Amino acid sequence: MARLAETRRETGTARTLVFDVPGWPGHLAGQHVDVRLTAPDGYAAQRSYSLSAPDRVELTVQRIPDGEVSPYLTDVLGVGDPVEIRGPVGGWFVWRPGAGPDVLLIAGGSGIAPLMAMVRARRLAGSGTRFRLVYSTRTPGDVFYADELRRPEPGLDVTHVYTRAAPDGWPRPPGRLTVDDLGDGPPDRDCFVCGPTGFVESAADMLLARGHDPRRIKTERFG
Ligand SMILES: Cc1cc2nc3c(=O)[nH]c(=O)nc-3n(C[C@H](O)[C@H](O)[C@H](O)COP(=O)(O)OP(=O)(O)OC[C@H]3O[C@@H](n4cnc5c(N)ncnc54)[C@H](O)[C@@H]3O)c2cc1C
Repeated sequence: MARLAETRRETGTARTLVFDVPGWPGHLAGQHVDVRLTAPDGYAAQRSYSLSAPDRVELTVQRIPDGEVSPYLTDVLGVGDPVEIRGPVGGWFVWRPGAGPDVLLIAGGSGIAPLMAMVRARRLAGSGTRFRLVYSTRTPGDVFYADELRRPEPGLDVTHVYTRAAPDGWPRPPGRLTVDDLGDGPPDRDCFVCGPTGFVESAADMLLARGHDPRRIKTERFG
């Protein structure tokens, strides 16, 4: 049984949760876990959450209004409380240090979570792989890991795309992700796209239209 060890607010509606999980076997950046909650009457609900760090069981959960599980994780679960966690799950949507010279990461909303695990895994490994992260959120206040992403890091290029409201003087007017936001770069690099289904499908279509190799476009849909 896992226990909540530490929490951190990311935004007004999202929280990062760090768990102690006895016997955890370790995981790869990009994998997820299944979290199962069981009520006193035996009713159980299970949801998947991406691991957002490569070296500990850390999840970042966005509260979905009227959701069954996410509001409990963002607002109710307290430090020391037990929770059932199974995993790690998934072997396709993963990045391993040393896998190639260039990577393009495209995140929509909470889809940043597994991509942040990749950014952190790159840092932890001292990898020379160049990462370009394109991160779409509604407003600047919806950005997870904001302080960490603001810090300059050699070989990591972060581009924010705001769909509803941008800071004053921001060069790009608010609007949905377009092909121009993906920037230049070799079409033969590994691409990881994660977020809501519609976002992932349109970003993957843009990559295909730009000539990216479909075998190197890996996607994860949060539903
Ligand atoms: C592989 C995988 C990894 C995931 N990783 C994360 C993660 O790291 N962080 C995270 O916050 N979520 C993640 N999710 C989404 C998560 O599993 C839940 O779907 C989400 O927390 C909503 O669950 P809920 O019980 O609160 O809402 P539910 O009670 O299941 O749904 C309530 C309502 O919200 C809608 N809804 C469900 N999910 C979403 C969504 N993601 N966005 C908008 N509307 C939604 C439903 O259609 C329904 O109308 C992941 C999903 C998958 C499949």
